[in-house]
Amino acid sequence: MTSYKELGLVNTREMFAKAIAGGYAIPAFNFNTLEQMQAIVQAAVETKSPVIMQVSKGARNYANGTILRYMAQGAVEYAKELGCKNPQIVLHLDHGDTFELCKDCIDNGFSSVMIDGSSLPYEENIALTKKVVEYAHQFDVTVEAELGVLAGVEDEVASEVSHYTKPEEVVDFSTRSGCDSLAISIGTSHGAYKFTPEQCTRDPKTGRLVPPPLAFDILHEIEKRLPGFPIVLHGSSSVPQEEVDTINAHGGKLPDAVGIPEEQLREASKSAVCKINIDSDSRLAMTAAIRKHFDEKPGDFDPRQYLKPARENMKKMYIHKIVEVLGSNNKL
Ligand SMILES: [Zn+2]
Repeated sequence: MTSYKELGLVNTREMFAKAIAGGYAIPAFNFNTLEQMQAIVQAAVETKSPVIMQVSKGARNYANGTILRYMAQGAVEYAKELGCKNPQIVLHLDHGDTFELCKDCIDNGFSSVMIDGSSLPYEENIALTKKVVEYAHQFDVTVEAELGVLAGVEDEVASEVSHYTKPEEVVDFSTRSGCDSLAISIGTSHGAYKFTPEQCTRDPKTGRLVPPPLAFDILHEIEKRLPGFPIVLHGSSSVPQEEVDTINAHGGKLPDAVGIPEEQLREASKSAVCKINIDSDSRLAMTAAIRKHFDEKPGDFDPRQYLKPARENMKKMYIHKIVEVLGSNNKL
């Protein structure tokens, strides 16, 4: 058993309470590589922001759970080395699908886990979430649950259609499961293709797809029923069109990739939404920089030559999200 406290990590409890009171949201960035981790820590330190570093089951399989734990510990030490006296870094499991996976993460230094029982019948979702909560709380690890289903594809998580969270269920669910935060479905979606062209309208000037708006009425209804309770938005990348253009201009093929407009995320951040998950935007920033580099310098073959601009581009994106969208800067 390795407690996250030994690694210098924190859970989400205090961080979320402050975010709700302060009207901002904590960034939850997914990572699998050294360069993503470095960029996340540099961005969080430079902007004085708390940060959630999260890994999916797929990321654990890709990078190895033991390595990820030491990377998270390394992230804390690196933040201190960069001059941050009191880093607020969470290591979170994204979309845990079994009690055993959550337990394994808790036993190996994670400070927060998500148990995603959203595809199960309602009572089974409550029972599974409760089982994880009872184990996690013994070690002061916080638990995120999910009610409602998001569309889109993210690692092993895939659903063709979304089912909005039913506001009338949230009080019963959170009370009986004991979860610390709740991921809801109000129209965000996993991946870089969040909406089909048929679901969107087109901006007549630019020809770009304009996605349907998020269901803020449902969010406000949930807030009213669960005042002060931490709400989480998954699938909240914005799919920056300049990165998509760079990828497509340098040999890529991402037609009609579309995300959640940043002004809607800015609005959500001011509400009880206190954690916003961003994964695809980091993938796009990395891929855009690497494609551009190879196109312009086809003779390069030292990975540092193309991973350095990739890291810089991700860092720029992370800082932009923290300062311009979520408002979690200067909160340490
Ligand atoms: Zn998700």
